[in-house]
Amino acid sequence: MDKLIKQARAGFARAFGGIPDGYWAAPGRINVLGEHTDYNAGFVLPYAIPFYTVAAASRSKSPTWQVWSQATGETVTFGPGRVREQLPRSQAVSGWAAYVAGVVWALKHMTGVSIGGARIALASNVPLGAGLSSSAALSVSVLSALCDLYDIKLDDERKVLITQFAENEYVGAPTGILDQTASIRSQPGTALFMDCRSQVVEALPFPLEETGLEMIVVDTRSPHRHSDGEYADRREDCELAAEHLGVDSLRDVVRGQLLSLPDLLMKRRVRHVVTENQRTLTAANRLRDGERDLRFLGELMLESHLSLMADFEVTIPQLDHTVNAALRGGAWGARMTGGGFGGSVICLVNRENREAMCDEIRFQAHQRGYNEPRFYSAVPSRGAHRVG
Ligand code: ADP
Ligand code: MG
Repeated sequence: MDKLIKQARAGFARAFGGIPDGYWAAPGRINVLGEHTDYNAGFVLPYAIPFYTVAAASRSKSPTWQVWSQATGETVTFGPGRVREQLPRSQAVSGWAAYVAGVVWALKHMTGVSIGGARIALASNVPLGAGLSSSAALSVSVLSALCDLYDIKLDDERKVLITQFAENEYVGAPTGILDQTASIRSQPGTALFMDCRSQVVEALPFPLEETGLEMIVVDTRSPHRHSDGEYADRREDCELAAEHLGVDSLRDVVRGQLLSLPDLLMKRRVRHVVTENQRTLTAANRLRDGERDLRFLGELMLESHLSLMADFEVTIPQLDHTVNAALRGGAWGARMTGGGFGGSVICLVNRENREAMCDEIRFQAHQRGYNEPRFYSAVPSRGAHRVG
């Protein structure tokens, strides 16, 4: 964290001059189980990983927002005209700074509060576009900064909705509430079990280290993907199926109902959501009961991956090969995490098998001509907080 704070401070000084009023950090996340269930009012089990975006920020006298990011080396400036309601797309802020403009806009839209301007410098070690939610880390760090700078008190639920709204309605990226919730509400040593219908969140013990386990994230660095269209298609498949079954959302489907769906594709989509919810509930129940040996999660993670591969069809061969290599290399289980179509795989492995597993994954990536994968240890970490 110290390094990120230093980088954000140096960036702030270079881009705007002077020193910032404060520093706010927000993490990326993995999702242990419960993929593509959030927008079906189902269950998810994410936690924050020890990779953060730090926003160094100050209030400005004029109502303009200036943002610099180390990731792009760019400074973007925008005024209130570009964050007003019913803005034609062409006048909105685009690119990465849209996440920042989106937060300013969503704050106004959802709380009625028009905040003053700010200067914000961002430094991050969350891999961008790797399915680890750098976008939530960005928008949550910015929201945390703006709330403190302008003394706006919001509870966590509201912060989640504001950052989700920013991403959905301003940036135009369709996401559920999983990423933002994990980034805002995670606590060290726990995973968040969340009911996406009631939005009740429960921090459950996640004692990885007690039995010598590690959760390794593999950023497969698969080539750039155009997954938004596919994501929207899956959401639509789910909505159509729910309509067909006369339920509010697929959360309410019970197994016998599969038969009444018109075609195999719809049956498979629904089966993924139903079984994924069951897997997530099973895991949450065992964690809540105080299970200390997390190896049981391995099989659930593998079943989840197979379901995402065969029924929901959101994996790509590179993800499947990575899961396969992880298992060959000694993992208890592995699965893609995030929306799919590329991104990252998480692997549950004994600490002493970690290197052998990573070697196996690296080896198969070389053999198939994939990019060199990157590995991170995903210790359950703290959610967004002020760091200086
Ligand atoms: P993920 O959230 O899984 O990393 P997304 O595609 O949702 O993937 O978000 C990645 C995008 O978020 C980047 O392309 C960029 O526009 C923006 N972004 C995230 N973090 C930063 C950052 N530190 N600086 C600039 N842009 C960022
Ligand atoms: Mg994202």
